Amino acid sequence: MSDHQSPFQHPEDQEKPDTNPHQQEVVQLLKEVIEPTLKNDIVSLGMVRNLRIVDDYVYLRLYIGSHQHQLQTEIQSKLSFLTWCKKTYIQICTIPGVKTTLAVSSGKGGVGKSTTAVNIAAALRLQGAKVGLLDADVYGPNLPQMLGLGQADIQVIPTPTGDKFLPLEVQGIKLMSVGLLVEENRPLAWRGPVLHKIITQFLQDVEWGELDYLLIDLPPGTGDAQITIIQESPVCGVILVTTPQQVAIADVRRNIYMFRQVGIPVLGIIENMSYLICGDCGARTPIFGSGGGEQLAAELQVPLLGQIPIDPDICNGGDSGNPIAITAGVAKPGHRTSPASEVFVQIATALNATFST
Ligand code: ADP
Repeated sequence: MSDHQSPFQHPEDQEKPDTNPHQQEVVQLLKEVIEPTLKNDIVSLGMVRNLRIVDDYVYLRLYIGSHQHQLQTEIQSKLSFLTWCKKTYIQICTIPGVKTTLAVSSGKGGVGKSTTAVNIAAALRLQGAKVGLLDADVYGPNLPQMLGLGQADIQVIPTPTGDKFLPLEVQGIKLMSVGLLVEENRPLAWRGPVLHKIITQFLQDVEWGELDYLLIDLPPGTGDAQITIIQESPVCGVILVTTPQQVAIADVRRNIYMFRQVGIPVLGIIENMSYLICGDCGARTPIFGSGGGEQLAAELQVPLLGQIPIDPDICNGGDSGNPIAITAGVAKPGHRTSPASEVFVQIATALNATFST
C-alpha cells in the first residue's frame, strides 16, 4: 500500500509496487476512488486497510466518517471491473454520527499532548464546529480536569444498537474519558485483553450524537493501546505533539513510523514549549533548543503545523479547567489573545479548511 501522506499536502505518489498482480490491480482501481472533500484517493488517505485477496475474493476494511458511505458503493462499482473477482467484502469501520475522527499523539508523556487536544477542540468549537473529545490516554486520563470537570457519573442510555455511554458536555464540547469510569487516584494498570476490551468498548459504545470532529487523545508512545485504538477507529489523521529536545524528537520519529506502518496519515507536527516570551521586551528564548520540530518535519516530509510558546497561562488554564484557546481565543475589547491561542486558532482553521464539507 502507499506511503500515507498528510491531506494538508499532496506530494508525488510514492507507491511501491505490490508483488501480487491481483493486489496491484485492486489497489490501482481503489486509487481511482476519490474522496471529494479531501480531493485525494482513498488509498493515499489511509481509508482502505487490511486489504486481502483470498482465492477470487477481495476483503478490505473501509475507514470512513458518517458522511462518506457513498464510497462503499463507488468501491463496489470500481471493483466490478475485475474479471477474476467473484465478490468484494467491505467491512465498514465508522463511528455513528461522527464525520471526522482525528487523533492527537506524542512519543512520550508530558510534552503537552492533552493540552494540545483540549485547545484544538476548544478552537474548533469557537469556530462553530460540533466537537467531541475522547480521552483514551488510559495511563493518564486528565482531560476532565483540563475542562474543569471533577469525577462525574456517566449515564448509560438504551439505543437501538444496545446500551451506550452518554458523553458529558462541558464548554460546548462533548467529553468521554476513561478517567470518568475509574475511581479517582487509582492507578490504571490495565493490560492485554482487558485493555483491548475497554478500548474497543470505548470506541463503539459512546452515543456521540452528530459531531463534525471527534478528537482522540491517545496514550503516549507506540504500545498495544495505541495500536488498538488506531486500528479500531476511523482515524483520518494524526497530529503529533513534541517538544524541541532531541530525545522527544526521536520518540516522535518512532511514532510516525508506527502510524505509517498501519496506514494512517500523519497530518503534521506541533512543537510545544518552543520558546519563552520575555514579559518585558518580548524576546523569544528557546529554552529547550531550537529547530527540532522543523528538522523533523523536513526529514519526514510532514508539515509543521505550529510552534507553541511556554506560557504559564497554558498551565494555569489546564489546572483550572479553562483552556487558553477559550479564555484568550477570541479578540474582544479589553481581552487579549495570546501567541499560544493564536497557534491553536490557526490549526483549527487549517483543519476546517481541509475537512469541513
Ligand atoms: P501530556 O498529555 O503530553 O502528558 P500535558 O498536556 O498533560 O502533557 O501537559 C503536561 C503539563 O505541562 C501540564 O501541566 C500542562 O499544563 C503543561 N504545559 C503543556 N504545554 C505547556 C506550555 N506550552 N506552556 C506551559 N505549560 C504547558
